[in-house]
Amino acid sequence: MANSKKKGQKGNLSIHTENIFPIIKKWLYSEHDIFLRELIANAIDALNKRKAIDPDVQEENLKVEIKIDKDNNTIQVNDTGIGMTSEEVEKYINQIAFSGAEDFVEKFKDKQSTIIGHFGLGFYSSFMVAEKVTINTKSWQKDSEPAFWECDGSTEYSLNKGDREAVGTTITLHINEDNKEYLETNKLKEIIEKFCNFMPYPIELDRDVSFEENRLEEDKKEDKITEEEYNQKKAKLKVVNQTFALWNKKPSEVTDEEYKEFYKELFHDYQDPLFWIHLNVDYPFNLKGILYFPKIKNELDMHRGKVHLYCNNVFVAENLKDFIPEFLTLLRGGIDIPDIPLNVSRSFLQQDKQVNKITKYIIKKVADQLKSLFKDDREKFAELWEDIQQFIKFGILTNEDFFDAVKDIIIFKSSTGKWVTLEEYKENNPAPEKEKSEDEKDDAEKMPDPYKVYYSQGEDSQLSYQKLMIDQGFEILFSNSPLDSHLFQQLELKNPGTMFVRIDSEVNDNLVDTENAEVVDADNKTESEKIIEVFKESLDNSALTIEAKMLKSDSVAAMIVFNEHMRRFQEMNQFMSTGDMGFMNNHTLMLNTGNKSLKKVLQLKALNKDEEVKTLCDFIYKLALIEQKKFTGKELQDFVSVANNVLNII
Ligand code: ADP
Repeated sequence: MANSKKKGQKGNLSIHTENIFPIIKKWLYSEHDIFLRELIANAIDALNKRKAIDPDVQEENLKVEIKIDKDNNTIQVNDTGIGMTSEEVEKYINQIAFSGAEDFVEKFKDKQSTIIGHFGLGFYSSFMVAEKVTINTKSWQKDSEPAFWECDGSTEYSLNKGDREAVGTTITLHINEDNKEYLETNKLKEIIEKFCNFMPYPIELDRDVSFEENRLEEDKKEDKITEEEYNQKKAKLKVVNQTFALWNKKPSEVTDEEYKEFYKELFHDYQDPLFWIHLNVDYPFNLKGILYFPKIKNELDMHRGKVHLYCNNVFVAENLKDFIPEFLTLLRGGIDIPDIPLNVSRSFLQQDKQVNKITKYIIKKVADQLKSLFKDDREKFAELWEDIQQFIKFGILTNEDFFDAVKDIIIFKSSTGKWVTLEEYKENNPAPEKEKSEDEKDDAEKMPDPYKVYYSQGEDSQLSYQKLMIDQGFEILFSNSPLDSHLFQQLELKNPGTMFVRIDSEVNDNLVDTENAEVVDADNKTESEKIIEVFKESLDNSALTIEAKMLKSDSVAAMIVFNEHMRRFQEMNQFMSTGDMGFMNNHTLMLNTGNKSLKKVLQLKALNKDEEVKTLCDFIYKLALIEQKKFTGKELQDFVSVANNVLNII
């Protein structure tokens, strides 16, 4: 390269441009990586032009090659594009770029903005990392002379006759002291993968690929691949990018296999995605993309979503919150919007009306797709629900538009074994008609009784409570996500008169045995009153509320009951602060006077066997607790010891 520099034209870039290099260096400080994107994007442009204009060019020769020379501290970006004559270098590099620079300086003097590509400064971003840049180029036009341009970041450049023989352009960056990290292969590979993955020509990074080569060699020897496949793969070993984004195809032309393959390659995931949505619109704006619902193994996985934003196949940003609603950033995929500038700034996005429309379109499209799956294949929808519900619930809770669009397809697993919507639950369980006095009727007009939807914490929890309800003919929905408390709240808000009631938040009137009215004994007390008294005395816990009812079922001696609203409030607080739902100390012990063990307590009490009474009360209370909370080691030890004492009584 150095010997290609000959005596020739010298010039001054422009009287107005003295400030440009410090500005580029300072303003773009945090965005150094983009210099490579800019150079590669220029190279791709040049390749596109050559393909369109040069009838003699062979498609397989169109590519970008990047070389690192650590000894000389240089990076070269070489392309086989249309190249430039020295007049073109003069016009495009010297004049146009610098008039662009003037605009740039004028317009964004006060702003910390990075709108670079827009102002023809792409090429000059190389001075963020280089102390000297050279261009060695030869135009595709017949008999054109090669040109060699050189600039050291001052306002002076030289433009001479070059010695390049092949058509195309090589940009050489002499990397400055502060940016030596760019001389590392992995660093460049990462940048290319990120920014240039879908650029439509192969981008080769010159590096040691002997390991991969040996593997190919072995595959060929073992007849795992044909000679032809071997040659094809070998030729591509140094190519870093994928060259094609699947969303550029029409949805009708893509097979399920292709969608899955593309996902796996892009996100280095070995698992198939659950579901995907292909976005493709030309009007009123141009947008293409695919959003994948990944299989998530646990809550942590939810944070690994990635939605990349591209502009004409060039990567712009990731998970851009102003653009893509937050809940969709839990998904994975890419969206290409050709009409946004390469260097989107936050303020641009917030101002732009188009952005708002685009966001709404994406939300609608995701909701539509979910709704058609719900309608067309309810079974598959239910199957997927377990995995995709977190996305949907998060979306519902954070985005009003999305809530409105999907509110009718939220499903819950029910104790009937089916997955049902709220509407279906209501249809299956009409509100009971209650006999009411005139007074109550008046009240009811003012404030009608809420419609209660019963739910349990999970399919496999609170089973005694479930049994009590199911035995009396109730249908229960199973909550299965920590977001459900919030979801219920939201559904109540949007469906006035509907209330979600956890099965342990009250003892439903229908569970109480009203036929056997309680009698008052000689002490003028009912059995319930007496048993409450005994428990209060024995447990000696003033914070604990104790109630007693005679249930139709004698299956449990006692239950722990929580107030629905207080419990939810506490759960939400706890979930926010610790992500965990602890046990609520503020609870009620509900005794079932229909259970024989309570009669036993009263008998012992009548015999003044206070020690035994205390043991039994304690045991009954702990039995109720164990269904509701995870015992600590100490609590378990206490429980076992009380249980042993009970064995001594019987
Ligand atoms: P922009 O790409 O935004 O126009 P640049 O400063 O990056 O601004 O480039 C200025 C011009 O120089 C390009 O429009 C193109 O005409 C020319 N150019 C830059 N790089 C190349 C290249 N590798 N091959 C051919 N022409 C190039």
